[in-house]
Amino acid sequence: MSGKIALEEHFNLPEFSDEVPQYVNAETMRDINRRLLDLTTERLAEMDAAGIDYSLLSLTSPGVQGETDPRLAVTRARKANDDLADLVAANPTRFGGFAALPLQDPTAAVTELERCVTQLGFHGALVNGYTNIGDAETGWYYDHERYLPFWERVEALGVPVYLHPRDPLPGNQGIYEGHPELFGAVWTFTVETATHALRLMTSGLFDRFPNLTVILGHLGETLPSNMWRIAHRASYMGDLIKFKKPLTHYLLSNFYVTTSGNFHTQTLNAAVAEMGVDRVLYSSDYPYESMREASDWFDNSAINDNDRAKIGHLNARRLFPNIPEKIG
Ligand code: ZN
Repeated sequence: MSGKIALEEHFNLPEFSDEVPQYVNAETMRDINRRLLDLTTERLAEMDAAGIDYSLLSLTSPGVQGETDPRLAVTRARKANDDLADLVAANPTRFGGFAALPLQDPTAAVTELERCVTQLGFHGALVNGYTNIGDAETGWYYDHERYLPFWERVEALGVPVYLHPRDPLPGNQGIYEGHPELFGAVWTFTVETATHALRLMTSGLFDRFPNLTVILGHLGETLPSNMWRIAHRASYMGDLIKFKKPLTHYLLSNFYVTTSGNFHTQTLNAAVAEMGVDRVLYSSDYPYESMREASDWFDNSAINDNDRAKIGHLNARRLFPNIPEKIG
């Protein structure tokens, strides 16, 4: 299928290169790091071969979220976004941008988001999980009230925030002791990101800002399949409940999921069954995954062609109205 729009496609800048953890074996990681820095020949050829006409680019994890100094986070985010704007401007029919945000300074993050959306033409923001603050042991999650002005501005600007994974804080890694093979995309990303999304839901954030849109990758980080049980048992939590509606309501009203890194038709069907086909979007998760593997699976998966068109590009067109009419 040609004409696909992909949302979770990562790049890197030389000044962040040393900060990417070794998510997989050294040889594969060298290749990933090389591809992260390439925004021209090889990436465009991969997109062409996979039928991806347009990629929304985001700074790879942890990016600005891993900067422990708030002042540096502000200047680094600004520089990264300016560089991304230049990369998009060089190929405006192939690339769009998600802003990197210095959430170490919530007020500065609001200003930077507004600048990226209104001046640089970005499609929203992608945040790599919690934000470090002061040191690598400490992280801030976005359900805290310090972020209410940020979410208020996100809603007012009408753009989505993509909640992308990162590994858990060192203090939360005890359960994985002796099992480094479970880190990253194998399992820790999923637990971390699904839990962060649940924190947003249970905080009452979406009661306060009902028009917020959050995107989750990897077909929803297991939440679509687990949501009934989570919502069912949460309803018994009495005085602990800070939210107003059944939790399932927020998944169906405030969340979209993408196919990034989860190329399995049964899981796709489960997400569609739970959330509706209008809330599922195509992505590959390049270069951690192969664009061709993602597309070979998606283009040939046993779903009907109406759904394939919606997931492949029509839903993205609706969610991001400023994607250029002519792409590819
Ligand atoms: Zn990713």
